[in-house]
Amino acid sequence: MGIFRPFLLIPAMPSTIRLDGAALASELRAGFKIRVAELARAGRQPGLAVLMAGDNPASQVYVRNKIKSCAEVGIHSEQQLLPGNVSEVELLATIATLNVDPRIHGILVQLPLPRHIDEARVLAAINPEKDADGFHIENAGALAQGAPKVVPCTPMGVMRMLEKAEVPVEGAEAVVLGRSNIVGKPMALLLTLANATVAVCHSKTRHLVEHTRRADILISAIGRPHFITGDMIKKGAVLIDVGINREAETNKILGDIDDDSCNGIASMISPVPGGVGPMTIAMLLANTIEAAARSS
Ligand code: NDP
Repeated sequence: MGIFRPFLLIPAMPSTIRLDGAALASELRAGFKIRVAELARAGRQPGLAVLMAGDNPASQVYVRNKIKSCAEVGIHSEQQLLPGNVSEVELLATIATLNVDPRIHGILVQLPLPRHIDEARVLAAINPEKDADGFHIENAGALAQGAPKVVPCTPMGVMRMLEKAEVPVEGAEAVVLGRSNIVGKPMALLLTLANATVAVCHSKTRHLVEHTRRADILISAIGRPHFITGDMIKKGAVLIDVGINREAETNKILGDIDDDSCNGIASMISPVPGGVGPMTIAMLLANTIEAAARSS
């Protein structure tokens, strides 16, 4: 009695859990290694071909990381580095060759492509069974119809992170910022399939903050550095940052979420870097392995 305990008077700062995508990706890669070895023993070593046209420095880094991750788990990988002035016909011919190459189970065309090339036509030329990124219209359609086959890597990685963190998705209010074919749309479809109530926001959305403040799960994929601030979110929200924005002066990578102002308000944050990025690559490996397993 009579003991003075000043610390009891200080309210505890609610702590925000960081979702460690790098650790989860590493755990998954350990499992992939075993699966790849099994497939290799059965004469089906998974193989991924990565096509890149031009010399976009960011794309070069992404491609290098993808190739390195393949090597780590035993996936055979090939890079096709085509000049920036490659013709669409040549690019389509390269894809046609890979479509029938038995050593290749996954084909990835690194985006963006040079302006003179029709991206949709190139993606549609990939054999849907070998569509490692899940961008082919047939795979996009299957997902939209609620029967996913090959699913785009980034949104699939986000779902795996939510699952690992035991975030209740069913019945949750989920808000997705961004409506691209590679992130926003498939993300919204996967959340819908998992029984969330989903709103998709974009650059023409009026009263964006009214939406973001309702979100139990907020996924930002807009590419605007530190756009989401603490005053835009609901207390206890789970924030998933997909954005990758390079700060010109420092060359630092920043996410869409302003971690400092959201800290202590959000219950969980998947940060940038170290969150969704490594999971995207892990899901690319998963898609390639699945494709090899399906192949006869
Ligand atoms: P896009 O540029 O294709 O799409 C951006 C989307 O954001 C569009 O739908 C756009 O709306 C919307 N948007 C832009 N500004 C605003 C705003 N102020 N308010 C609301 N919505 C806005 O980008 P991606 O989908 O390809 O990529 C999004 C981000 O995710 C980028 O930073 C990218 O680098 C990153 N990324 C990260 C990956 C990872 O592995 N971590 C993988 C892929 C992408 P509208 O449609 O109206 O133009």
